[in-house]
Amino acid sequence: MNPTLTVLGGAAAWPNPAQGCSSYLIEADDTALLLDCGPDTLSTLRTHIDYHHVDAVVLSHWHSDHILDIVPYRYGLVYGPGTLEAPIPLWIPPGITGRLEALAASLIDPEDDPREFWTSVFDLREYGPESRITVGQLEARFGWTQHYVPCLATRIEHRNSGRVVAYSADAGLVEPLVDLFQNADLAIVEATLDDHGDTPRESRGHLTPEDAGRLARMAGVGTLLVTHLWSERDPVTVIERVNTEFDGPVIVATEGMTIDV
Ligand SMILES: [Zn+2]
Ligand SMILES: [Zn+2]
Repeated sequence: MNPTLTVLGGAAAWPNPAQGCSSYLIEADDTALLLDCGPDTLSTLRTHIDYHHVDAVVLSHWHSDHILDIVPYRYGLVYGPGTLEAPIPLWIPPGITGRLEALAASLIDPEDDPREFWTSVFDLREYGPESRITVGQLEARFGWTQHYVPCLATRIEHRNSGRVVAYSADAGLVEPLVDLFQNADLAIVEATLDDHGDTPRESRGHLTPEDAGRLARMAGVGTLLVTHLWSERDPVTVIERVNTEFDGPVIVATEGMTIDV
């Protein structure tokens, strides 16, 4: 069986009506990998699978729209019914462990241990662009994006089928992503901005629909899923703009959609 990708949320900085922020579930065989855990996405995860049965979580960067549902996820795993067989590996960018502990410290009693807040249900592991993560038959590797904070894009290959999903996370430039996205069967690419205005290339932190299309074309991807979009953006116009650069199939992310990779 080929893997599937389910969009748990594809909104930009805050939730759209009936759509949470960034979170994507990749399933293959009996394995489930969660990419990002943005606000208002845990409820969609729960309509799709038992949240105890996620095999790993990978957070791309420390921005609230990609991480905040990890807090209620932790509370569900601790206090909800059901049993967690083992802590779920939670992969975070380098240097972020202290930020996670500070977030926990702001929520708990001063005498409680902020690290234990997380490690009771998650196995905290930092990763970087040199890391290789294997989850069942899924193998992930990474590359830095240009963003406002350190941010990692992900390429995931399913060993059995050879199918590949690539995820831009948040990114301001196309070129650093082309290698990681090479020949991906499904490319999940943000297209947040309407235009770059006067922002110079070296200061850009997000892509436009044309940028997303250009990445898809340069990397020779199969299907392009555009995401991280404001609800005020017209999906038809977004696709038309992507198509000026990329003539392959284009899908605009909507919450709960499942795509065969
Ligand atoms: Zn961001
Ligand atoms: Zn974002």
